[in-house]
Amino acid sequence: MNRLLKFDDSKALAFQRPSLTSVNEKDLSTMPVYDILCGKSAGLPFEYLMTDIYSGCLPIKSICYGNCSAAEYWINKGYNFGARHINNFDEALFRKSIEQLSPDQRWLRQGWVSDVSLSKKSWELLGPISDVLMEYNIHMVIITKVFTKPSVEVMRKLAANKTELRVSISAIDTKHEIERRFDSLADYRQEGGLSVPYLMSFKFSDEILRNNQELIVQKIVEDDYIGAEHPLRLSNDNAGLESAETERHFHPKFADQTWFGRLYEEVGNFILPPPTFLPADYTFDFLRYSDVQKANAQFRFNNLPTYKDLIEKNLIHNNTFDHASYDVK
Ligand code: SF4
Repeated sequence: MNRLLKFDDSKALAFQRPSLTSVNEKDLSTMPVYDILCGKSAGLPFEYLMTDIYSGCLPIKSICYGNCSAAEYWINKGYNFGARHINNFDEALFRKSIEQLSPDQRWLRQGWVSDVSLSKKSWELLGPISDVLMEYNIHMVIITKVFTKPSVEVMRKLAANKTELRVSISAIDTKHEIERRFDSLADYRQEGGLSVPYLMSFKFSDEILRNNQELIVQKIVEDDYIGAEHPLRLSNDNAGLESAETERHFHPKFADQTWFGRLYEEVGNFILPPPTFLPADYTFDFLRYSDVQKANAQFRFNNLPTYKDLIEKNLIHNNTFDHASYDVK
């Protein structure tokens, strides 16, 4: 049964922030262009990061759920985040930055302040990049909303180079978006790649959105995916908060954002944590949850607090929210 037939996106457009939509993008400067590099010695805030393929991402009216901390960061600095450019890829410089990585770093995150899926051209660039990384026994964890799908050739190359494709999904996506994202997850797994639905969960009071979120979780379980949960943070001026549970929880680090922590701890498929909690030597060899069960494999990743943890004020680790702010050099 295709559960997504019942997905109702009539509330999706409500998620906007007046403080951002009132900004005139014509008054903002062009985004700077960077070399695509890896790790802290290249100026990135964490060793596991690589520069996004794009500098900038979507215009203000289109940013995801009206709430994107990268967009807010650049707009506050006076840059037009939506007027994006592809960053420079110089293979020699890229290799030099890999050689300066900590020797135990086995994976790199692609997609932290933009999204590689903004064009076919940027997907094409990732294929050769994954080849270079494989020479150093490093794989990518791509986080994407799949605005455009990669070609079959790019998917095959990424799968052969052990790339994890993590696709962000939410109850407040449009129907078209959620279908494309699940299609992409299925296509990539078909090519032998690790496809991970990355659920941006939230406690909704609105019946339609609660139902959408349940449909997504049921689909993850029925389609036997390995999942990950990334609780959504919404700023308190986001008009969509009318659909949030009234018993609010505020983010422990960002008091102006509503956040409920993880909600699906009991669903076994949600094995993987957000990238911040992946160890430097992270690899994952299963494509299906049933294979994890058959192998009786056990994983012990640190993870974000659950809703219950928040209620009990149990934040687990001192560095739980280090990733939630960043600066770009
Ligand atoms: S894809 Fe990511 S970077 Fe781009 S607007 Fe959405 S949340 Fe922001």
